[in-house]
Amino acid sequence: ARTPFIAGNWKMNLDHLQAVAFVQKLHWTLKEAKHDAGTVEVAVFPPFTDLRTVQTLIDADKIPFGLGAQDLSTHDSGAYTGEVSGQFLAKLDARYVIIGHSERRQYHAETDEIVAQKVQAALRHGLVPVICVGETAEDLEKFGASAVPVGQLETALADVPADADIVVAYEPVWAIGSGQAATPEQAQEVCAKLREVVGATLGPDAAARTRVLYGGSVKSGNIASFMREPDVDGALVGGASLVVDEFAAIVRFQK
Ligand code: 13P
Repeated sequence: ARTPFIAGNWKMNLDHLQAVAFVQKLHWTLKEAKHDAGTVEVAVFPPFTDLRTVQTLIDADKIPFGLGAQDLSTHDSGAYTGEVSGQFLAKLDARYVIIGHSERRQYHAETDEIVAQKVQAALRHGLVPVICVGETAEDLEKFGASAVPVGQLETALADVPADADIVVAYEPVWAIGSGQAATPEQAQEVCAKLREVVGATLGPDAAARTRVLYGGSVKSGNIASFMREPDVDGALVGGASLVVDEFAAIVRFQK
């Protein structure tokens, strides 16, 4: 069985001081609610500048949250001004790294090929890539929901070994930050197709083990309906991950 995974993508929000207050409060809120960390995995994805601080806090207070970054360089080191290497992230005990978020694809011209290179960079340093795919409203109209995300994932997984630990996130671009989430049925349909892609490229064991998340306007009020779907193993949460009580309620979803 796959452990449900609730991931908070903070995007460009919360500086390192705000991050401390937020993580402490989230930890206390979940502790007070007697949340069992073994039943649902929680991870936070702060900006790069917060990672060291959050790492230290998680370590010192034994907080059972995974830590991840929102991006990484395709390169490991060298003359790449402004870039952050996967080896630096690994040194900070980051376990995860988001790759190919639609905001990176849209504002930073990340192609499927760059995404594939970033997946390789993450795996070189023992990081678990959280590979984001999803169609725009225009894609949806032209090609239906699954064609674009399936193609994106196929390219991203091209040279990935069968035993790689990866996470896939289906984030329809039209659902991100819009308040208009996909329906659970829509999410299930595409997540099932993405799991088939994992099976076809990495094999049946990987398909059975890999967590496929839904992302796009996930809230405490709709999380349960997504989690009832057999191929949705969790959520990548943006806006609602910045509000302690709301994010805690998402983590504590009841099917
Ligand atoms: P929202 O939850 O704000 O729609 O953002 C989703 C997202 O992009 C997570 O990566």
